[in-house]
Amino acid sequence: MKTAAKLLWLLLLLPIFAALMAAQPPEPSAKPKWSLAIHGGAGTIPKDIPESQKEEYLKSLRAALEAGSKVLAGGGTSLDAVEKVVRFLEDDPLFNAGKGAVFTNEGTNELDAAIMDGRDLSCGSVAGLKTVKNPISLARMVMEKSPHVFMVGQGAEKFADEMKVPRVDQKYFFTQKRYDDWQKKLKEEAEKDKDTVGAVALDVHGNLAAATSTGGMTNKRFGRLGDVPVIGAGTYANNKTAAISATGWGEQFIKHTVAHDISALMEYKGLTLQQAAEEVIHRKLQKDDGGVIGVAWDGSIALVFNSEGMYRGAADSNGRSEVAIW
Ligand code: ASP
Repeated sequence: MKTAAKLLWLLLLLPIFAALMAAQPPEPSAKPKWSLAIHGGAGTIPKDIPESQKEEYLKSLRAALEAGSKVLAGGGTSLDAVEKVVRFLEDDPLFNAGKGAVFTNEGTNELDAAIMDGRDLSCGSVAGLKTVKNPISLARMVMEKSPHVFMVGQGAEKFADEMKVPRVDQKYFFTQKRYDDWQKKLKEEAEKDKDTVGAVALDVHGNLAAATSTGGMTNKRFGRLGDVPVIGAGTYANNKTAAISATGWGEQFIKHTVAHDISALMEYKGLTLQQAAEEVIHRKLQKDDGGVIGVAWDGSIALVFNSEGMYRGAADSNGRSEVAIW
């Protein structure tokens, strides 16, 4: 065949090839461009809670998921997305972080939070805050605007003033439900209440970030800090492996360095995020200790818990969008 004829055939066939390619449905397992997972705490959540209450939680989780998804779908960073989600949940009195924080043994509210950037392991933690409205944003300032990674109590609040981060009166954190829970706990002398908020994300630039915020555990003693602000226990992010945020009995999560352990199993043993999270949550921790949410470098999401329930949500650029409790 002459070269001109060959060319003519090629030109005729080209649009047919193009049409065939365009008609291919997207591969369902294609790596998502962005992924997001969120949690609002794990614990004993009775399955018979009134339908209206259940709907309230799901509605809030959906709204938080949507706010974070919007940031990521618009090309925003994973850090911005996780901060946005956590701020949203901190402002919602339903969850034990910010506005809905639990009461300490002394009748105060003391907040802890941490954020981590998977690009270079930068991180910021704050703990024992009594007047900072959105602890997660102060944690981010510690990471970005101070030479330190961990600031606590009055010093951290002084730093909040320097950074012009809004502070509030302790009264702001009062909610009747948490007060009643505390009164009940005072009688029982138990400290195993679990709730916290967190978000982890992969952005379109390939970067992972994790953020967690909590009021801690009901009736906690003076000076008690949990796993949330301890990098590697309740919060961790590393672009090589995953971003992880935990919720549950903080003391156990610190002892087992849960978030870093999951990352280490991926890095050193080649486990997937799901396998690593299951190993730690189901085989290292005890039943009812709590759970984790994670997003891996490849956009896969893990939501693993050993308690009765975990308020949670997941979304990605492939169209996944779901919230659940049990
Ligand atoms: N892990 C938190 C703490 O121990 C509590 C929670 O997740 O509910 O402070």
